[in-house]
Amino acid sequence: MKSADLHLHTFFSDGTYSPLQLIEEAKRVDLSAISVVDHDTVLGVEPTLEIGKENGIEVIPGIELTSEYNGTEIHILGYFIDHKNTELIEKLDCLKKMRVERIHKILAKLKDLKIVLEAQRVFDIAAHGTVGRLHIARAMVKEKLVDSVSEAFARFLSDRSPAYVAGFRLTPLEAIKMIKKYAGIPVLAHPYTIKNDVFVSELIKQGLRGIEAYYSEHTQGTTNFYLDLAEKFDLLVTGGSDCHGNAKPQVKIGSIKIPYDLVDKLKNEKESLKNL
Ligand code: AMP
Ligand code: ZN
Ligand code: FE
Ligand code: FE
Repeated sequence: MKSADLHLHTFFSDGTYSPLQLIEEAKRVDLSAISVVDHDTVLGVEPTLEIGKENGIEVIPGIELTSEYNGTEIHILGYFIDHKNTELIEKLDCLKKMRVERIHKILAKLKDLKIVLEAQRVFDIAAHGTVGRLHIARAMVKEKLVDSVSEAFARFLSDRSPAYVAGFRLTPLEAIKMIKKYAGIPVLAHPYTIKNDVFVSELIKQGLRGIEAYYSEHTQGTTNFYLDLAEKFDLLVTGGSDCHGNAKPQVKIGSIKIPYDLVDKLKNEKESLKNL
């Protein structure tokens, strides 16, 4: 039976796989379709599409936009976004610059906490695209400032930790609008991180069209909860592993495989958007 993993990162954000490695891995674990959803960038989409075509793997264009509400992070996936649109690419370039600025602010906060890390150590790891906290965490491990990426997040970098820098992000409404403006389908990523289902219904009112019910950190109970919610609000259902390659070796590509008919439903939605 055909299956898909619709939440994968490349080295164009904070994953470690190149497009070629991603396609090779997708083949190895027998996926029919994948989606590249890098953080705030579409740079990885076209090269992965091309290599996918040569190798019989279907690649669905995507993005994972970071937004923030009251200091809590909310990630919005945008499937079938028009990744070649120049206006979109310009806007994403702004977000990319803001990410660089934010890295400097986070490093300043870390310094106040007596953790000294040179910015260049972080940028060296993020050589291909958008930079983020996972790069900081990996640099901290490399410089022996912490023992693991998870320690870096738990002690310093998570949105509830002392070196978190808020206020650099889109609001969820802005993220949803941006995805719709460029012909994408907005889907709430890893809904378990929100822990506030009133807020989820608020996002639906703001134009959200789908929910990532299948996710590597979801228990069966959590998945069932969001499947019910999707049915109640007539949302599309998606799913994926959120594999970041060797940056998070425990999260494997294909550890979440969703049935291909969910991909067909996404495609139908995309077709209906075209006819609007
Ligand atoms: P940023 O884009 O700078 O906001 O960083 C977000 C990235 O940090 C995401 O890719 C997450 O995978 C990663 N991340 C967030 N929280 C954690 C955590 N507790 N442990 C490991 N990685 C995390
Ligand atoms: Zn990431
Ligand atoms: Fe995410
Ligand atoms: Fe992700």
